[in-house]
Formats: sequence, structure tokens, C-alpha cells
Amino acid sequence: MRRVRKTGGLAARLEAWFAEVKRPMPWRLEPAPYACWLSEIMMQQTTYASVLPYYTRFLKRFPTVAALAAADEADVLKAWEGLGYYARARNLLKAAKMIAAGGWPHSAAAWAAVPGVGPYTAAALASVLDGERIPVVDGNVARVFARYWKLDDDFRKLPARARLAERLRGEIAAAAVPGDFNQAMMELGALVCTPTNPDCAACPLRVACAARRDGTQGDYPVKAAKKELPVRRVAAVVVTDAKGRVLLVQNRAGGLLKGLWELPAVEPSVAHVQVFSHFRLELTTSRAVRADAEFRDPRKVPLATATRKVLAACGLL
Ligand code: SF4
Repeated sequence: MRRVRKTGGLAARLEAWFAEVKRPMPWRLEPAPYACWLSEIMMQQTTYASVLPYYTRFLKRFPTVAALAAADEADVLKAWEGLGYYARARNLLKAAKMIAAGGWPHSAAAWAAVPGVGPYTAAALASVLDGERIPVVDGNVARVFARYWKLDDDFRKLPARARLAERLRGEIAAAAVPGDFNQAMMELGALVCTPTNPDCAACPLRVACAARRDGTQGDYPVKAAKKELPVRRVAAVVVTDAKGRVLLVQNRAGGLLKGLWELPAVEPSVAHVQVFSHFRLELTTSRAVRADAEFRDPRKVPLATATRKVLAACGLL
């Protein structure tokens, strides 16, 4: 039977709090491997609010792991369109084929061998689905405990996360339900111990939180200075035909955008000037770089996010 206490150690406090406030996410109502796995992959780098409509549509389109395993990559990418980080969708398909053939994993180590599943997702799935006592550590969890224990590590680095995971192993050992302990940590980071203005008054860990005690919540987690990102400038053209189709090219190179359709890129423009008797003509031209462009219905092919945004802004979607 589930033990829930509002006092006691860290695990008991977290679990009692989670029982009271947890959001009714559809995959939490009756945890099943396919729903939990799909939701975990969708929630990587993406918020719950953004994921929910995609999750519902995706599950309708591919209701079982067998249905997903039998799908074409283009259909999976289309269902994923707009969620970004398309490598997740490609890995999901690879993993579905593997699971449909060999069955569901039942430990974090077995989950970690599934394409697209890293240590965080493996720990989350093994704890929720099989009760394994293995803590999750992501940016949210690291932020909570950097403040709670006033840790000076840079948690963007893997060794720091591994040290925190080791420390949390001692805490999850005392949990009544390991999956709830992990979900409580994630929920706390997402809802209460947020990057700015943590709501310490609503936090189940407030009594023993070292940063709250001395008012230094804003100093944790410690961050090294960010490197400035290099800027890439690309020009693209929007050309439609009489049927309303758009000139697009499919990205066939490897990398994040593989398989998605994009607007054709053009080389930087060249300006020509011609002077007529009544006006001066300034003509700017760009040479198309891609020769493999074809007119396609943009609603029927998976689009790269930037292309989808541009076509939507042009009223073409
Ligand atoms: S008391 Fe405040 S700073 Fe400490 S863990 Fe809770 S929300 Fe975060």
C-alpha cells in the first residue's frame, strides 16, 4: 500500500506533496509502457502544454507500438511536425520496430539501449513502469537540489549530474513509490522551484532548503558564462504554382532536418542597376542553389519548422 506522509524525510515530503498537486497528465492516469514512453520522448525539450495536443493526435494516428512500427517515416515525421527536434521522431520509429519485435524493456539499463532514450528518460520509465529505484536528473531536478543543498557544480556537465544522481540514490531508497518520487522532483522543478521567482512558500522542501534559509535561491544553480552562438544567414524563396503547391526541396543530408521539406535556399543576392530615361532600375537577383526542388502540397509533407512558419506567415498553410 502507498505510504504518504506530509512530514518526515525528503522522500516522504515529496511524495505527499505530489499526491496532492500532480497534474492529471493522460499518461499518468493509467501508466502503460507505450503512453509513458511516447510522452517522455515528446516532453524532451518541450513543455507539457505544447506536447498535449501532439500527444493526443499522435496516439490517435498510431494507437499501439505495433501500429507505429509499421508506419512510414514520412507519416511519422508529418505527425511530429511542429514539435521540433525531429531526430526524436526518427528514433521513435526505430525504437518501435525494436520493441514490436523484442518486447518492452523492464529496467533502466534495458531502456538505455533503446534509440532516443538517454539516462534521464531510462530512469523515468524504469521507475514509473517497473518501480526501479533509480533517480532522474535533468535541468529541473538539478536546479531544485542545487538550491536545496547549495551545490556549486555546473549541472550542464555530465559528471556533475552523475554526482547528483548518486546522492539522490540515497533518497529514492526511502521512497514508497519510486516512480512518484521521480515525478515529484520533475513536477517541483517545473511548477514551484522555477528558474526565476521560485515559489518557496508552496514548496514541500522549504524547511530544510539551504538556499531558502539564507535567501540565495537566485544564486543557484551556478552557471558558467554562456558562449555566444555563431550566426548563420540563409535566404530562401517562396514560389507557388497555379495549384497552390509550393516549390520545396527534401533535406537528404544527415542531421536534424533529414527527411523534412524546406524552401529552396538561394545564394546571397546580387544587385544590378540600370538607368532608364524616367527611372533608375535597381534589380536584386539570387541564384537558386538547389536543383532538386519540386512543387508539393505543403500540407501533405513533413516540413522543417522554419519553413512551416514562413508558409504560415504567407497564408500558404
Ligand atoms: S524552498 Fe524554494 S529554493 Fe528551495 S527547493 Fe523549494 S522552491 Fe526551490
